[in-house]
Amino acid sequence: MRKNYVMTPGPVPISNEVLIEHGKPLMHHRSPEFSKIFAELTEKLKKFMQTENDVFVLTASGTGAMEAAVTNTFCTGDKVLVASVGNFGERFKKMSKTFGLEVIALDYEWGKPVNPEDIKKALDQDPDIKGVMIQHSETSTGVLNDIEAVGKIVKDYPAVLIVDAISGIGASELKVDEWNLDIVCGGSQKAISAPSGAAFISVSAKAWQMIEKSDIPRFYFCLLAAKKSADKNPPQTPWTPGISIIVAMNKALDMFFEEGREKVYERHRVNALAVQSACEKLGLEMLVTDPESRGVSVTSIKVPENIDGKLLTKTMRVKYGVTIAGGQGKLTGLIFRIGHLGYVGIFDVITALSALEFALKEQGWKFELGISVTEAQKVFFENNYME
Ligand SMILES: *Cc1c(COP(=O)(O)O)cnc(C)c1O
Repeated sequence: MRKNYVMTPGPVPISNEVLIEHGKPLMHHRSPEFSKIFAELTEKLKKFMQTENDVFVLTASGTGAMEAAVTNTFCTGDKVLVASVGNFGERFKKMSKTFGLEVIALDYEWGKPVNPEDIKKALDQDPDIKGVMIQHSETSTGVLNDIEAVGKIVKDYPAVLIVDAISGIGASELKVDEWNLDIVCGGSQKAISAPSGAAFISVSAKAWQMIEKSDIPRFYFCLLAAKKSADKNPPQTPWTPGISIIVAMNKALDMFFEEGREKVYERHRVNALAVQSACEKLGLEMLVTDPESRGVSVTSIKVPENIDGKLLTKTMRVKYGVTIAGGQGKLTGLIFRIGHLGYVGIFDVITALSALEFALKEQGWKFELGISVTEAQKVFFENNYME
């Protein structure tokens, strides 16, 4: 018998309460029952994102919201500044190039955050820059960028700020309005802890001005079409949405507010801290060396010499039922990533660490069995985790 645990930074574990909603008989998407839920969900998402901007739900994975941001905001040939600290930063670059934008790349070593001052310098140097793109939590490395500082800078320029907050929002603070974030992207399978397949996106007044002039071809991900449908009474979507996912998300957001934003953030902070301290006890090194730059959604750990990283994640998944993530892009094989995002409690963390220990032992890594579990327990205890 083997139980399965998902400890990746998306998809994440889903509560039984949300799964039950997801499994209910399908409603028709133009029925009053669904319209009510959809209207509720939109309001909850605004609260979740801390914004009064328009918020749309798109039936797509998170990347669909990123694509909507790129294709709706700019004109072919526009210059955009992409601050990249990892694989998802690279995705913004590729996407922008695909749609005919001129990309100015602001690249950082993977494992380091963006220095907001560099964005200011780049905007000063080139007043033609129409948009700045950045990740909130860069999931491929586990770095958390200082989006508040970037928002303070970009608001004084004509450029719009596009934030991929897909793995960050709901796990750590992100204030869309207070921080002047023009377009923010999220996904259902991250902190919200619903099934994958719905993305959401907020749009500021400054962004709408550009959207009205944008000329990049798009059809399915048209925000003007989304707005036209959303403005109907009751609100609609232009195309058939992922009905069950929306119903599930609606429940998952209730659970977020029931637990309370601050408590959710604290749970993520302590889980991340427990994983990091525990792994250090095992003699493992963190990819993100500066604890100040570490996010709370995922921890990236360097694969030590003499350990086969691919085999490690495979053993954990196949033999022990614990799915963690490997490295992405140029970090493939060099790191493994333990997700502690969304519906993750202390015993999920302890289970994952325990499986990690078994898999490391099997490859001859030297440590005292149970040492990481003990360390995690200490962290939970010291942080009054269950209060
Ligand atoms: C998960 C994620 C995405 C989007 O991935 P999808 O597979 O399209 O949902 C984008 N950016 C970040 C930072 C992510 O964590």
